[in-house]
Amino acid sequence: YEKSKELLNRAEKVLASGVSSEFRKYNHPHALFYTHGSGSRIYDVDGNEYLDFTLSQGPLILGHSHPEVLRKVEEYSREGQLYAGQHIREIELAEKLNKLIPSAELMRFCLDGSEAVQTAFRVARAKTGRQKFLRFEGHYHGWLDNVAYGISTPGIEALGSREQPNVFPWTAGLPESSREDFIVLPWNDLALVEQTVKRYHEEIAAIITEPIMCNNGCILPNEGFLEGLRALCDRFGIALILDEVITGFRVGLGGAQQYFGVTPDLSIFAKAMGSGYPISAIVGKREWMELIAEGKVIHAGTMNSGNPTVAAALATIEVLEQENPYERMYRLGRRLMDGLREAAVDTKQDLVTQGLGPMFVTYFGKKRQCNDYRDTLGNDKAKLSRFIAGLHDRGIRVIGRGLWYVSAAHTEKDVDKAIQTAADVLKELPIT
Ligand code: PMP
Repeated sequence: YEKSKELLNRAEKVLASGVSSEFRKYNHPHALFYTHGSGSRIYDVDGNEYLDFTLSQGPLILGHSHPEVLRKVEEYSREGQLYAGQHIREIELAEKLNKLIPSAELMRFCLDGSEAVQTAFRVARAKTGRQKFLRFEGHYHGWLDNVAYGISTPGIEALGSREQPNVFPWTAGLPESSREDFIVLPWNDLALVEQTVKRYHEEIAAIITEPIMCNNGCILPNEGFLEGLRALCDRFGIALILDEVITGFRVGLGGAQQYFGVTPDLSIFAKAMGSGYPISAIVGKREWMELIAEGKVIHAGTMNSGNPTVAAALATIEVLEQENPYERMYRLGRRLMDGLREAAVDTKQDLVTQGLGPMFVTYFGKKRQCNDYRDTLGNDKAKLSRFIAGLHDRGIRVIGRGLWYVSAAHTEKDVDKAIQTAADVLKELPIT
């Protein structure tokens, strides 16, 4: 990794911290710099090839540099760079989302997930006249101020945690009313949400949740949990916001809202929607989103919905529609999860895999199934780091906190290779 080392020196002189937070946070053994990616592979400056399950933190649902995405971005860019709306491509994209996503009656485009979340908060506050949001421990909704400092996820300690005072703490029983914007509750506990909402509904503008807790343990919602949130929101006039930044276009064309059959008032799409180009969407039911149309909610941004980024989203969605890779992505993802589990049994390692297939996590721990993110906190992080580092040194890239993303570019052979490599790494780890 000599060239990467040299580049780290150079980067630290001009880039704050020199590398992305991922490297520092999870103690990757080497800060690598990359030259290019293609399909399921990525290459570093020292000429090493990696099978990539990070997909640049998730967006590359079609793999690196999908030719149709590149082609359309170039084609539409040649029409001129038309930003801030008012061009036909933006309408075409909106019509597509309207057709595919159950709640997408009206929408607006932004640059990333964090901005779209903030827009949803504004809409919810404007419509309800209330100030607070109910959110859940272990969920991530972006890095902008009010959300970042309200977060508590083990992967993201630097932004705040349950122990830090800027987080409204859940202790036992009902939380007290808070000065903060957020009431934070444990996830998947519908009874507690119900008690809280009954007590504080006059203050709560929205409940926001990831439909699957992808950022922490890939935990699925308990049966009836999302439906229960929907019913509470209906009863008390609260906005239900589904944050589909990860699940959108990953679990299926209609997102998790289609997968689970629960229609939110507002939801956020980003990452996979544009194959990594900076485009996101806040979509929602007409009666909520029309507050933007009426000028009661400001939504702006010079760079929004430019035709080059709209092109990336249109190309991505069209390829997903035409090739329908979902059945394969689920199958490959599940095979990978099963293969890792078998390798763990063979090597007597307490490796757990949990998730849906297109995305899942691996961690080390005695508890075979985690329903609450605090269960995953008890896992052996040092061992996970060694596992991830071992995979990395043998040419497999996985997100530092043990998150794996499968793309339409991955093949059966890729999965076999990952399982075999993982088995080799597991053999070298201490048994605890
Ligand atoms: N919500 C969720 C569920 C996310 O996973 C993320 C990013 N990881 C965001 C919001 C923020 O999106 P972005 O990084 O595009 O601003």
